[in-house]
Amino acid sequence: MTKPVRVRFAPSPTGALHIGGIRTALYNYLLARQTGGTMILRIEDTDQNRFVPGAEEFIIESLKWVGIAIDEGQSVGGPYAPYRQSERKHLYKKYVDQLIASAKAYYAFDSEGEIEAMRIRLKAEGNDNQQYGIHSRLSMRNSLSLSEAETTQLLESGAPYVIRAKIESGHQVVVNDLTRGSVTVQSDTLDDKVLMKSDGMPTYHLANVVDDYLMKISHVIRGEEWLPSAPLHVLLYQYLGWQNEMPEFAHLPLLLKPDGNGKLSKRDADKMGFPIFPLTWKDPHTGEVATGYREAGYLPQALINFLAFLGWNPGTEQEIFSMTQLIDSFAIQRIGKAGAKFDIQKAQWFNQQYLRGKSNEELAIYLMDSLSKENINCSNAVAEKICGLLKDRVTFPQDFWLQGKFFFKAPTSYDEQVTNKKWTQEAVTVLTQYANQIKKSDTITADVAKSILEKVTSELNVGTGKILQPLRVSITGGASGPDLMATIEVLGVEEATKRIEHALKTIPIK
Ligand code: GLU
Repeated sequence: MTKPVRVRFAPSPTGALHIGGIRTALYNYLLARQTGGTMILRIEDTDQNRFVPGAEEFIIESLKWVGIAIDEGQSVGGPYAPYRQSERKHLYKKYVDQLIASAKAYYAFDSEGEIEAMRIRLKAEGNDNQQYGIHSRLSMRNSLSLSEAETTQLLESGAPYVIRAKIESGHQVVVNDLTRGSVTVQSDTLDDKVLMKSDGMPTYHLANVVDDYLMKISHVIRGEEWLPSAPLHVLLYQYLGWQNEMPEFAHLPLLLKPDGNGKLSKRDADKMGFPIFPLTWKDPHTGEVATGYREAGYLPQALINFLAFLGWNPGTEQEIFSMTQLIDSFAIQRIGKAGAKFDIQKAQWFNQQYLRGKSNEELAIYLMDSLSKENINCSNAVAEKICGLLKDRVTFPQDFWLQGKFFFKAPTSYDEQVTNKKWTQEAVTVLTQYANQIKKSDTITADVAKSILEKVTSELNVGTGKILQPLRVSITGGASGPDLMATIEVLGVEEATKRIEHALKTIPIK
C-alpha cells in the first residue's frame, strides 16, 4: 500500500522568507492537493542564535497571501503538535541516546580551538580532507578516543560537549532523488556532523530527520542547497532503524540570477531593482525596509504562475495556469535539474496577463483606490472606462493611476520632442479649427471626435498623421498613451476644448 502523501514546508525563521521559499512551499502544496494529501508547516528554529523576531509571522502571512493553505502545522495545529522545533526539544534526546547506545553517535568535548588546530595540522600534512570524521576523530577528544572512565568523568563534571554522528567507513550512500535519479556518495567523504549542540538543542540534521519520521512525511521536497545533506539524512534513517519509513526526496533546482551566473541573492535583486521577499519586510535589526512583491503590485496568482515555471514545465505551450490547473498538471518528474533563471520580465509579463484577464469593473477598484488617496472624485462608470482604455498598457495595478493621471489633471507641461518637431503653424491652424468644431456639440463620442478630425484635416488639406501627436500632447501632455479619440470621449467636450485652447496659448509655434 502506498503511504498517504504528507509533505512539509520547513522554513527557518532566520530572516524574511525569500521568494524561493514560496516556490518550495508551492511545489509541496501542489503535490499535496493533487494527491489529496496533507500540507504541513513546520518551523525549524533550533538555531536560536539566528532567530529573527517576526520571521515566523512573515512566513505565515506570505503563504496566506499567495494562497497556499496549510492543513496541519504551525498556526493551525494538528495531531503531531508542537510544530515549532524549539518546543520539541524533549523529543530529540531519546533518539540521540539511541544512536549513542548503538554506537552510531558519540560525545565530543573538543573546543573550537582544538578543532581549528586539527584542521591546520591535517592541512600541513597535505591532507585534502580536513573534516572532523573518519580520518581525524581518533585524534580528537571524544568518547571514541577517550576511555570510558574519562568520558564518564567529563560528562559528570559538566564539561561542555556535543554529540556527533559516527559515519561508518567504506559505505556507499545512495540518495534516490525524484528529480535527479540516484545519487551515490562514499561515506568516507562525509564528516561526523554535530547532531546535538552543547546547549542541548538538536541541529537541523537531527531534528529534521526525527520530525520527518515522527510526522510521517512521505516526500521531502526542498531546495537543492540541501542535497549535500541528504546522504547524512539517509544514513540517519538507517542508523535509527527507519530505512523503511524513509521519505522520498526531491531537490529543487537553484534559482539563478537573471543572467544565469550564480545563485540569486537579495543583493542581486536589490541591484536590479526587483523584490526578493513576498511581502515588504522591515529588518528588525537594521531597520532597513525591503519592498515585497505584494506591495510592488504583483498579483498573487501571477506570482504563483511565474514561480511554478521556475524549475517545472507542463511540457506543452500553455503558460497561464490557475492554481487549480497547476494542481492538475504538476508532476515531480517534470521538475528539471538545471538551475532556473529568475527572469523578472517574465514575472511582469504574467502580471500583465492576469490584469488583462480581469473585467473593467474589477480593475476600476484599483483606480478608485488610488483616486481616493489623491482625494479625487470619480464615478465607477468613468473609472471602468479609463481602465478599459489602459488595460493593455499596464503592468501593475498602480499603473492605472500613474498612466491615467492626465484624465484627472490637465497637463502642466508638454512633451518637448513633440512640441519641438510637430507644433507647426499648420498644426496650430488645424487644432484651432478642431477645438471650434467639437465645441459645438454638448457630448462627444470617440467616433464623432474622429470624424470631426478627419473633416477638419481634409478641409485644410493636412494629413492626420501630422496632427495626431500635437493633438495628443495638447490633451495629455505626453507623446503616447491610450486611444486618443476614446480619451477625448472620456474627458468630454468642455475639458478637451479647454485643454486644446490652453495648449494653443502656451506652446510656442515652431
Ligand atoms: N529548515 C530548512 C530551511 O530553512 C529546511 C530544509 C528542509 O526542507 O529539509 O530551508
